[in-house]
Amino acid sequence: MAVIARIVPDVTGVDKVFDYLVPESLVSDICVGDRVRVPLHNRNVAGWVLQLGDTTTQFSDVDESRLLSIVKILGKGPSQEVVDLARWAAHMWVGRLRAFFVAATPATLVATLPGSRYTQVATRKKFDVDVQAIDAISAAGVSVLRRGPACSPRSIVLTAASKGAVLVVIPTLNRARLMAASLRESGLSVAVIPQDWAVAAGGVDVVIGARSAIWSSVPLLKSIIVIDEHDDALQEERSPSWHARDIAMERAKKLGIACLLVSPVPSLRALHGASRAVASLDPVTEASHWPQIRLVDRRLDERWSSSMLSSDLIEQLRDHSRRIVCVLNVKGRARLLACGSCRELVRCDVCEAAMTMSATKQLECPRCAHSRPAICVKCGSGKLAVIKAGVSRLREELAAAAGRRVDEVVEISGGETANKDQEIDQTKMLFVGTEAALHRVRDVDTVVFLDIDQEISAPRYRAAEITLALVVHAARLVARKTSGSSNKSEGLVMIQSMLADHALLRGLVSHDLSVFVEEEMSRRKLLQLPPYGALAQVSGTGVDQVADILRSNVLLQVSTTNKEAVLVKSNDWEELANSISDALVTASTRGKKTLRIKTQIDPPRA
Ligand SMILES: [Zn+2]
Ligand SMILES: [Zn+2]
Repeated sequence: MAVIARIVPDVTGVDKVFDYLVPESLVSDICVGDRVRVPLHNRNVAGWVLQLGDTTTQFSDVDESRLLSIVKILGKGPSQEVVDLARWAAHMWVGRLRAFFVAATPATLVATLPGSRYTQVATRKKFDVDVQAIDAISAAGVSVLRRGPACSPRSIVLTAASKGAVLVVIPTLNRARLMAASLRESGLSVAVIPQDWAVAAGGVDVVIGARSAIWSSVPLLKSIIVIDEHDDALQEERSPSWHARDIAMERAKKLGIACLLVSPVPSLRALHGASRAVASLDPVTEASHWPQIRLVDRRLDERWSSSMLSSDLIEQLRDHSRRIVCVLNVKGRARLLACGSCRELVRCDVCEAAMTMSATKQLECPRCAHSRPAICVKCGSGKLAVIKAGVSRLREELAAAAGRRVDEVVEISGGETANKDQEIDQTKMLFVGTEAALHRVRDVDTVVFLDIDQEISAPRYRAAEITLALVVHAARLVARKTSGSSNKSEGLVMIQSMLADHALLRGLVSHDLSVFVEEEMSRRKLLQLPPYGALAQVSGTGVDQVADILRSNVLLQVSTTNKEAVLVKSNDWEELANSISDALVTASTRGKKTLRIKTQIDPPRA
């Protein structure tokens, strides 16, 4: 009998697995997940052990005499549990196994794992526990814990850690490091992923990191916590576009342990997947974790159609003691239409996206393709007006309204990552720019969303949820200021909108988003969008061949977004994944051209 290992090569572009003989000298050491060196196409490459078998069973369909041997074991890789999870994810996200192994593997070679470093039970018993977290971790299943933006999730993590090893995923590595330092002060052993990969695999109380931490190997795992599960940073932007929250839910389910999803604004996916009712603090405490949110109804302002500067905003700008950031996403702005009589914003009656006027003077929805005659649904008037954005002279207008010189207004442009090197003059008091400004200005008193309607009514189906995440970000920025006792001024988030009756905005003001959630859930259900259905974007060379095969499947809806991409919709995620995988296989055996297809499940920006 000889031992055979099935190997995933660590080579870009290679999508296959290969079988190798395990030399006698390595048989007692080799484990599933290990990094190994193997010969492939006349050179030696690295790879991972996906499965182990032997020649006495039908494990390999290649004859033993034709199998090459593994050269050596390089180091430790993901545990069997994580390898199984990766195989599930590769199927659901129609992605290459290699991508998941890379996420689950330490950056440097790890020869042996250190011993475990669990804290004594006596130490862990002394923690202040969060009563709702106790309930959540005492049984398997998904719990949603709603906590305001300024509430630290520290006590939730401590509570979980008091019951055994916990894996914590948080949107940024910086926040992971801060939380780790704070947990160590309580006497816990903490591993920060990626640098402490081996320590985590050896066994500690808390393993914490950004999205890839969900792939870390953690022995004796008792619970998983995803902090700010609504945050888009938890989704991998490249393909396969896995989301740490979805991986966490499946990992906990496979292990039969608790998964705690924490957020000020729980996502529809989380609410849909939860096993029990949302746990929140009492309304007074929850409200204390939010800064003041003031809604400015632009319809009440005389200059609504020509200027972004409402009288409320002008009053705010004149208070020179406050540091103010005005947010306006200029890129990709749509020309919003409103009723000239009643000032109602023109939106799609099916999906609520802002509608545009077609050449034939019909109103068209860029999100769901619904169209209707160009009249106001509220008052029946046919007099529709384009709202002038007034972006070009905005900086001058702001300066004039604030009674400041133009050079005292700092303009911040670009996306989240663009011109990061541009030095921001933090001594200034007034800033205007894209949402990037929220990441770059410090010590802010007021954030003003000049035109939130652009965000809420954007063509993306998740536009409303993305808007919520943006407001949470602003709330954290000004809440930090509130907590400092030295400063008397209170943080404020000001939201200017023509949709002041929108359930999302009313919910933000009252800290109760239940009406919004209910409306949004029924809309998603109606349109068969996640969490009720699954959506994938298929793109790349040869996409038309794949699209043709997918179109013949009656269980799918296929729509073309542009020349290179199609959107595929199904009411079942697994069904969608199976169909796309099958179509890729069929197309590659049928076609003459080489396929270079990219599949994004639940594409972040669709
Ligand atoms: Zn009207
Ligand atoms: Zn629509």
